[in-house]
Amino acid sequence: MAEYKTIILKKGKEGSLYRNHPWIFSGAIYQIDSGVEEGEVVRVVTYQGDFLAVGHWQVGSIAVRVLSFEDKQIDDTFYAERLATAWDVRHRIGLIRNEVSEGSAINNTYRLVHGEGDNLPGLIIDIYSGTAVVQAHSVGMHRDRMIIANALQNMMGDALQAIYYKSESTLPFKAELGQENGFLWGQSDNNIAIENGLKFHIDWLKGQKTGFFVDQRDNRSLLEQYSHGMRVLNMFCYTGGFSVYSMRGGAELVHSVDSSTKAIDLVNRNMELNFPADGRHKAYAADAFKFLDEMDENYNLVVLDPPAFAKHRDAIKQAMRGYTKLNAKAMEKMPKGSILFTFSCSQAINKEQFRTAVFAAAIQTGRKVRILHQLHQPADHPVNIYHPEGEYLKGLVLYIE
Ligand code: SAH
Repeated sequence: MAEYKTIILKKGKEGSLYRNHPWIFSGAIYQIDSGVEEGEVVRVVTYQGDFLAVGHWQVGSIAVRVLSFEDKQIDDTFYAERLATAWDVRHRIGLIRNEVSEGSAINNTYRLVHGEGDNLPGLIIDIYSGTAVVQAHSVGMHRDRMIIANALQNMMGDALQAIYYKSESTLPFKAELGQENGFLWGQSDNNIAIENGLKFHIDWLKGQKTGFFVDQRDNRSLLEQYSHGMRVLNMFCYTGGFSVYSMRGGAELVHSVDSSTKAIDLVNRNMELNFPADGRHKAYAADAFKFLDEMDENYNLVVLDPPAFAKHRDAIKQAMRGYTKLNAKAMEKMPKGSILFTFSCSQAINKEQFRTAVFAAAIQTGRKVRILHQLHQPADHPVNIYHPEGEYLKGLVLYIE
């Protein structure tokens, strides 16, 4: 039995834990042992005193993030085992491989740990060419960061040169942890990662998320297949992932748009890495809605990959209207026979809701629309079947008549 302080649930509040759901909300808690510090591991029991789970305690609506439904110690061995399983999954998917072409790796970019999807709630680890970028979304994972870093080092050996910690903006501000971004181990100034043979400059120092949107890898590959001879608009391009794939796919022209000038610098830099001085590409710093209103190019392959419009459940209605408006603006102007790749990464909006928002855009513009593909997050962003909230990325590929 693990020796941790105890949290007792209210009567009848244990149901979701018997269904292996990894979150315990503060409203379900009857009593907390005195002296528990934020981020500490706690033992959770029913009102009657039966063991339920061990997890990280935190102030806030999600009060406990469950680490194990077995009564065990959360130590080096625990993290080593969880990381080993996460590694095995990526290995089976074929992401961890040593395929080499002309002396360089074909793919060295992937997500190794995806929070609840890997039974490690609050922890994200992305691998970029030998650098692991670790991101804590809970105080508990922040406290455990050195144990995690050691376990990671032991497991990856020479395949790992450095571990960078990037949690400045993902931890609760109120916890006052004084966390700073920086290397936990090693040092690396090689921040060029390779995804499916394409090179990307990863800004793990200042970039969004861990520096790159690893979750669009498969969808970018699909776009590449549609790109030959097309006039491509990549809206909300950020680092230009979709743009670079489209160039390789043989697009006639590729225009990348983002409201952030920093993103435009990144896309230009990534284009230089892969297609130096190739006149087919142009990047514009502009607002999406304004650009779509004013554009006169006949783009026949359009990508819409906006930031999450609904960060919370109460913003769903407004977000749905946002998706409808955005998609309608694009559909309206697309020539007959165009292809639209449209996405939503809002966790609060499910795939039926997203499809309804896009359906409304089709109605509004009076276009005939066929769904060719229904897209989602890739296999290195697995969804824990007991935690459907982990499914966040949705996409549709549409044929617009
Ligand atoms: N498609 C990208 C990820 C997009 S992230 C990829 O594959 O990596 C969302 C991007 O939308 C951010 O870079 C952000 O700067 C940009 N953005 C946010 N609001 C915008 C707006 N109103 N107009 C244009 N770009 C916007």
